[in-house]
Amino acid sequence: METFHDHYTKLKKTIAARNPSADMQLIDRAVQYADNMHRTQKRKDGSPYIIHPLAVAEIVAEIGLDTDAILGAILHDCIEDTSSTYDEIARQFGQTVAALVEGVTKLTRVEYSTLEEQQMENLRKMFMAMSKDIRVILIKIADRLHNTRTMQYQSPAKQISKSRETMDIYAPLAHRLGMQKIKWELEDSSLKYLDPQGYDEIMQFVAAHEAESDEFMKTIQSRITTRLSTVGIHGSIYGRVKHVYSIYRKMKAQDKSIDELYDMYAFRVIVDSIPDCYNVLGHVHDLFNLVPGRFKDYISTPKPNMYQSLHTTVIGRQGIPFEVQIRTWEMHETAEYGIAAHWKYKQGIEGGEEKEFEWVRRLLETQQEADAEDYIHSLKVDMFDDEVFVFTPKGKVISLPSGSTPIDFAYAIHSGVGNAMVGAKVNNHIASYDQALRNGDIIEVLTSKSAKGPSRDWLNICQSNQARTKIKQWFKKEKREENVAHGKASFEGEMRRASVSMNLLQENDLVGILLNRLNFDCLEDMYAAIGYGGLTATKAFGRIRDEAQRASRQTLQKESAKANEHAAVKENRHKDSGVIVEGIDSLMIKFSRCCTPVPGDDIIGFITKGYGVSIHRRDCKNAAAANNPAQAARWVGATWNAAENKPFATTFEIDSTDRDGIWIDIATALTTAKVKISEISAREMPAGKARTIATFEVRNVQELDAIRQKIRNISGVEAVRRGQN
Ligand code: MN
Repeated sequence: METFHDHYTKLKKTIAARNPSADMQLIDRAVQYADNMHRTQKRKDGSPYIIHPLAVAEIVAEIGLDTDAILGAILHDCIEDTSSTYDEIARQFGQTVAALVEGVTKLTRVEYSTLEEQQMENLRKMFMAMSKDIRVILIKIADRLHNTRTMQYQSPAKQISKSRETMDIYAPLAHRLGMQKIKWELEDSSLKYLDPQGYDEIMQFVAAHEAESDEFMKTIQSRITTRLSTVGIHGSIYGRVKHVYSIYRKMKAQDKSIDELYDMYAFRVIVDSIPDCYNVLGHVHDLFNLVPGRFKDYISTPKPNMYQSLHTTVIGRQGIPFEVQIRTWEMHETAEYGIAAHWKYKQGIEGGEEKEFEWVRRLLETQQEADAEDYIHSLKVDMFDDEVFVFTPKGKVISLPSGSTPIDFAYAIHSGVGNAMVGAKVNNHIASYDQALRNGDIIEVLTSKSAKGPSRDWLNICQSNQARTKIKQWFKKEKREENVAHGKASFEGEMRRASVSMNLLQENDLVGILLNRLNFDCLEDMYAAIGYGGLTATKAFGRIRDEAQRASRQTLQKESAKANEHAAVKENRHKDSGVIVEGIDSLMIKFSRCCTPVPGDDIIGFITKGYGVSIHRRDCKNAAAANNPAQAARWVGATWNAAENKPFATTFEIDSTDRDGIWIDIATALTTAKVKISEISAREMPAGKARTIATFEVRNVQELDAIRQKIRNISGVEAVRRGQN
């Protein structure tokens, strides 16, 4: 069993090699402190607990982090697992170290069940966000790396769940931070538990072909080495079988078995300068056959995680393809340790805490890579100040703008949840609606079917546009139904006034034209806008008025023409009606009973539904409707045909005193005027008055006026009016 002493010696050696200026005195004190705090605890394998923090510190030192990070690694489990506190650590080792330990503790406390793929990115972001200092996440990754190395002591269930987490969270984070070496180890050791069969198959294949592989790699290596020394380039060359998970992934992606998969060797040539990189590339292409389409220049265009190298795939005489990666030593350091390599570099030139990411940002600013910005976002911890990551009770991660409240959370879940919200719990405690959520909080929204919906105050409380929009929508929608009803009524009123029906609009495809002109998707939207006051019904109908009235007139004429055809069979058509109607020559003409026009009267025609054109006097009270826009389409101009000379029936309404025989006097007057009387009747009126209605035929208005004069002269007659029913 490994002892405390073994590990401590290894740690000190690594620190001496990678970080000679580290404060060993302080580190010694931290090791003693942690050893003391963890004294009663054992690892699963029975070794003293302190072995774990020492191993984590060694990984942290190996990737080149500073004294504070090494101290943080040594103390990383103290707050979580012992009686130690933030204050105690701050007092003994400073605020920075205490903050690092606290940060790691917070990450440890995040509980997450198995998550869906799209949740992973949020969770990774949350990790970054919770690590106010990038070193927190580096220590956490080192912690996980050591735990995967000692995974064999865990229960099978834990092996699988932890490996899943490692694969989903920690390996991508290591990749994001450019820590290739650690990423590979995390992936391979997770695969071992996630697909033991797949893992073993590759391991066995690799082992079975070890001799061949070694032989192959040696040959290639020596050919490159020989060429480089011939041309005087100083370089370090070595070959390797690619790591297990990358072979595994390729097999899955290409659906190939391991013996079909040739592309499993990678060679690395590390040289002193960038020009040498390109020179080596030329020599490699000269020595071997190029596989087209596989060359990538990550030197001129670094990967978002700062990785730089030239990649090419070639085929040797053996017919086996292999990849060659060419890079400088500095690029190599970056490829292995990622962000940590830059950390180290930065310490040499700047050292200021605030400048932490300046260097990275500057590097990235010069890059054209499309996702460079994404990378900054995922890397630059303070950039997450504008986001907060919280959990649903089921472990789903929700990302919200910082300062978000339970209201924002509820609407982020679903507008239905927000609208039905009656309260919220944060970490199992009832919370107020305006409580600001913090990273890692678990939020439960309490809903009720009888909820009254959002209140207007919520608009001031919520932080996310999403919530604000949805709350506004709710109010608009609640009103919308009213708005639509209101708007519909006004628009229909407008149509009625113009004697146009919705059917007519639809039959003539005018609805589409109308919506198009007004830029609405559907009638309901237009009604809502009218109801809302965004548009008047008059203006809306105005956009289609001319077309609608034309269509209406055409429809009426068609209907009348049809009716006319039927009527013509039974009745004589009034071809010789004595009236000319504007633009209409085939319709039946009728003279209205209400005003009984005669030639000489100013007249107007009304297109009836199915009974032709009815002729009114222009001063008929029924014809006054012609001024009504709703009827406008039905009224047509009409004139008397002077060529005709035939009698027309008309009616007089005569008011008189109720004396005996007055209607006989009236009848006599009509008879002596030689007009044909078709009807005459009289009735008593109140206050000793009488009213006589006489219908008779005249040829024109002059004849009528003469008759009127005669009747006026009859004793007792007080008024003579043209008849109106
Ligand atoms: Mn730990």
